Amino acid sequence: MKNIQNTIDKVYYECLELKQKGEVASYIPELAKVDPNLFGAALITSNGTIYGIGDYQKKFSMQSVSKVCILIQAILDSGHEKVFKKVNIEPTSSSFNSIANLELKEDNKPLNPFINAGAIVCTSFIKGDTSEEKVQRIISLIKNITGNDDITYDKNVYQSEASTGSRNKSLAYYMNSTGVLEGDIEVILDAYFKICSIEVTCEDLAKIALSIAHNGMNLNGFSIFSSIVAKELRAIMCLCGMYDGSGEFALRVGLPSKSGVGGGIMSVSLDNDGMGIGVFGPSLDSKGNSYLGIAFLEKLTTELGISLFE
Ligand code: GLU
Repeated sequence: MKNIQNTIDKVYYECLELKQKGEVASYIPELAKVDPNLFGAALITSNGTIYGIGDYQKKFSMQSVSKVCILIQAILDSGHEKVFKKVNIEPTSSSFNSIANLELKEDNKPLNPFINAGAIVCTSFIKGDTSEEKVQRIISLIKNITGNDDITYDKNVYQSEASTGSRNKSLAYYMNSTGVLEGDIEVILDAYFKICSIEVTCEDLAKIALSIAHNGMNLNGFSIFSSIVAKELRAIMCLCGMYDGSGEFALRVGLPSKSGVGGGIMSVSLDNDGMGIGVFGPSLDSKGNSYLGIAFLEKLTTELGISLFE
């Protein structure tokens, strides 16, 4: 393995030279305020050594990267059977907030847990009678994995999401009409908005990714989720983690990953006894994935030879 810090530095500066950089998400007003030039990355190796570059300690909105944590907690709280009775595990060719498939598919179930409809259903399986109880379970999960006690959600982003969340509300109420989503719909939606608004750093994402590489174990050796769940997460991240850009991403990067419209990408590597990577660049491509994030991961996995398909 090459010198990791040197490789990260080289790749980072090559990415800064790129002309095309994408655009910051604007459909959530609060996210439109984020500086499009922010860019950072962190890689954590099996023994817990962290390598970072750029804005790797800057907090940003987790958005859909949280869907990985939502799935973990849904399975921990309600079990596989209940969750996967309501959510399929198939890739999508539609956008992350698409409604179309919910009606077209015979079983009306969301295609996978990493599109909005699927994550909203998974949120219904997280324990808690209030949205605050549900979001706190996710925050505790992230704290237990990362050891970062500062994890919280951003109230401004949450309010911005909740007040402009018509599409997500439509998805939820439609799924309620077909019996796929049960429970207090407003509580579930409110929890989903709060969870999307959780703030993390690249370092936090790298640590979560490492726990997925390490079959559910955190850095202190505590088992947070089972190896079966970790294996499932790696598979679902590979197939569904980058929305309808997952196929091209597999070719270019080749790591189980999950992106969010806040500009974060979390990637898992099984090489070198396991590594976790977190990247942040808020300008997005047309599919909603971080433009610089993908460029960075493509160059990094090529340099280090760590694509799954190598
Ligand atoms: N909060 C965002 C939404 O529900 C998450 C989307 C994303 O990151 O893909 O629209």
